Amino acid sequence: MQTTSLEGIQNFKGKYPKQLYLLFFTEMWERFTFYGNRALLLLFMVNYLHFGDGKGNMIYGVYQSLIYAMPVLGGMLADKILGQRRSIIWGGVLLTLGSFVMAIPVKESFFIGMGILIVGNGYFKPNISTIVGSLYKENDGRRDAGFSFFYMGINLGSMLGGLLCGWIGQQYNWHLGFGLAGVFMILGLIVFVKKQHILGPIGLPPSVENLKAKTALGLSKQNMVYILSILAIPVFVIILNYYEIYSYLINPFGIIALVYVIYAAGKLGKEAFLKIMVALVLIIFSALFWAFYEQGGGSLNLFADRNVNMNFLGLKLSSAAVNNSINGALIVLLTPFFVWLWIWLANRKKEPNAAVKFALGLMQLGLGFYVFVIGAQFAHNGMVSLLFFVLGYLFMSTGELCLSPIGLSAITKLSPPKMVGLMMGMWFLASSYGQYLAGLIGSLMAIPSEDATGKAMTATASLGVYTDVFTKIAWVSAACGVVLLILSPWLKKMMKDIK
Ligand code: GLN
Repeated sequence: MQTTSLEGIQNFKGKYPKQLYLLFFTEMWERFTFYGNRALLLLFMVNYLHFGDGKGNMIYGVYQSLIYAMPVLGGMLADKILGQRRSIIWGGVLLTLGSFVMAIPVKESFFIGMGILIVGNGYFKPNISTIVGSLYKENDGRRDAGFSFFYMGINLGSMLGGLLCGWIGQQYNWHLGFGLAGVFMILGLIVFVKKQHILGPIGLPPSVENLKAKTALGLSKQNMVYILSILAIPVFVIILNYYEIYSYLINPFGIIALVYVIYAAGKLGKEAFLKIMVALVLIIFSALFWAFYEQGGGSLNLFADRNVNMNFLGLKLSSAAVNNSINGALIVLLTPFFVWLWIWLANRKKEPNAAVKFALGLMQLGLGFYVFVIGAQFAHNGMVSLLFFVLGYLFMSTGELCLSPIGLSAITKLSPPKMVGLMMGMWFLASSYGQYLAGLIGSLMAIPSEDATGKAMTATASLGVYTDVFTKIAWVSAACGVVLLILSPWLKKMMKDIK
């Protein structure tokens, strides 16, 4: 049923188009599922499957990296064959299924479930953001506010998912936690299917004839896409099992993609070429940001479990629930302030450009890790106060708000329309690379279960290992910020009129 025209949607009155609420809600529950799972992955691998910290962190990094690499393909397939809506629904079905498979209490179900989630996320994640962009005319000044609102939905879902699944999974039953994550995806999916007609023509397949066109195997293109995506699942299960091979896949892929973008940009005029170069610099720094930031779902889960005092007002909190919900909660609380701040600065012609914001983001991230280090100086018996833990996350979150939503918006502004899809893919690929690096960094903080004399590792001993690596992360992240700040006047010139 198609009730609204594109013109009708884009000429909305007020702050947000009404369709944005549907997308907010659907993305919120999808992120609930994703972050609910993420809260438990590493703890499950270390405490239940007994993989050890090193292997656990590496598998976590490879999984997360695949999760963020697949949107490149999911976005392309939606543009060419399925359209965004069908991709979102198919992705949502797979995400539900993946979570339910992980809820089956046998060892084998874990990697199979993760494989299904990787494919599902590839279809879902990029396409819902593309629809958000489609609600606005190219030069509508309300677009950034719309993306910020959408980013709040992402984090509301992440907060609730981390809190509920983290708590149920860690305190009661791991598999129940994984299953719970899937239940909420069904809710989001039902509402999206029932209400999608309000999107009018947005997100429909580019051509229905093409969708139904028969391939050499006699199946329609649409069914081929579905079947090939199911066949991709065992490939991911193999990669997760043999995670050591991943560097041979991601490194060449990243280099080829980078060379291709430079080549494609070379065909544009000088001004457009320089803008793409700025976007690439931002993308490279974002990969570094995620490499440090994503310790949140990795080593910080273990740090919270082993070295943060979870007693609060007489209650013993779940470390998984705390670690995986603080960030989302802070983002939700802080977004209105940042939206106001950028507008306030813009009105005074003092709004920093994207490169400076990125530099500030990296510095604040470094500061966040430094707060953990300071907290360690005041630790009792190796246990850091929850206050320092939350304060560290506060700076990580303000850093995220200077980089993540700004980056999404900057990519759409710096890329010519023909290249936006490709550049969005590059943005997520940088996240993917960052996630992989995060796994490598996390594995540097592997804590053996016993020390050289055969005694169980104490909290004081593990705290030493964490503080050492956190100190390095703090300095390297801040140094990256300084380098970008030094480069920013040149980048500003190359960006011309764009902020
Ligand atoms: N936290 C954001 C999300 O979940 C951004 C993550 C990223 O791009 N690495 O969508």
